[in-house]
Amino acid sequence: PKASVETPAAADKSVENVVIIGSGPAGYTAAIYAARANLKPVVFEGYQIGGVPGGQLMTTTEVENFPGFPDGITGPDLMDRMRRQAERWGAELFQEDVEHIDVKNNPFTIQSSEREVKCHSLIFATGATAKRLRLPREDEFWSRGISACAICDGASPLFKRQVLAVVGGGDTATEEALYLTKYARHVHLLVRKDQLRASKAMQDRVYNNPNITLHFTTEAVDVVSNTKGQMSGILTRSVDTGEESVLEAKGLFYGIGHSPNSQLLHGQVKLDSSGYVLVEEGTGKTSVEGVFAAGDVQDHEWRQAITAAGSGCIAALSVERYLVRND
Ligand code: FAD
Repeated sequence: PKASVETPAAADKSVENVVIIGSGPAGYTAAIYAARANLKPVVFEGYQIGGVPGGQLMTTTEVENFPGFPDGITGPDLMDRMRRQAERWGAELFQEDVEHIDVKNNPFTIQSSEREVKCHSLIFATGATAKRLRLPREDEFWSRGISACAICDGASPLFKRQVLAVVGGGDTATEEALYLTKYARHVHLLVRKDQLRASKAMQDRVYNNPNITLHFTTEAVDVVSNTKGQMSGILTRSVDTGEESVLEAKGLFYGIGHSPNSQLLHGQVKLDSSGYVLVEEGTGKTSVEGVFAAGDVQDHEWRQAITAAGSGCIAALSVERYLVRND
């Protein structure tokens, strides 16, 4: 373990050194680093708001790209290991939702469903939520045919060399479609509007790719299954005529964007126009001194477990430096 850091909390026991909100890879990694630095972090893991304890990976089966697990690991197992590692080093974990925070005055105030905590610094790691279409059979086929992450799932045996479909017309959808062509037999892109919203460069790449078929003014209505209960197609509807038909596909990828879980920070720290927390690159610092952000809530670009974990590490190390400097 690292040597103990003398912190302001050493003087005032009623104020925590650092509170971490979120229990995805970013939150737990921040907790491991802060705990090992003897900061005794308090972690609000969440309960219902913005996801589940353990974050987005709790909704997936195999994670094949997290380093250190050559044979893959299930999402829940990976998150359980991170949680236990944080706990082992002394992080205090509360399975509670944070309902209100005030970072206008330091010490900051964190109000959860059960308690109020004061703290000198805050790591905000509440993640993001992939927008869903809410198809009638969506829950039944989530992770069994429906996915919101081509990089995570594109190469899985479920989708490899199959005909797949992507929904959406912006940069996310076009990126997902292009990525999937590396593995899929063919990719259909279902676009509700009569044109793509994606950047010109992305549009050109889609139009020039013979493995992508564009279906404009077409929306997904539901998933269709075969007699074995496996996904076999997508029920689509023409926005113009209302005519429905079945498109054969073994997978459906949502490329309709993500919502960062940053509502608690509205009006308190600077967010971008989509609600992502704006941070200084390489430190996780937000516009408010002592408030740091990590993981998908500040990253609209990569959205991977390893990048979330990396930014959680950076935020915790930045907190350690911040507390020493302000001691
Ligand atoms: P999240 O994992 O989103 O966790 C956020 C946490 O914050 C949650 O625990 C939530 O409960 C908590 N929270 C939110 N609001 C509050 C609140 N008010 N109070 C308290 N807690 C709160 N990435 C990969 O690298 N490989 C993969 O194979 C892979 N597969 C994926 C499969 C699926 C189905 C999905 C949806 C994503 C996948 N990803 C994968 C992406 C990866 O899960 C995310 O990039 C990563 O989880 C982001 O981590 P995070 O810590 O920023 O946030």
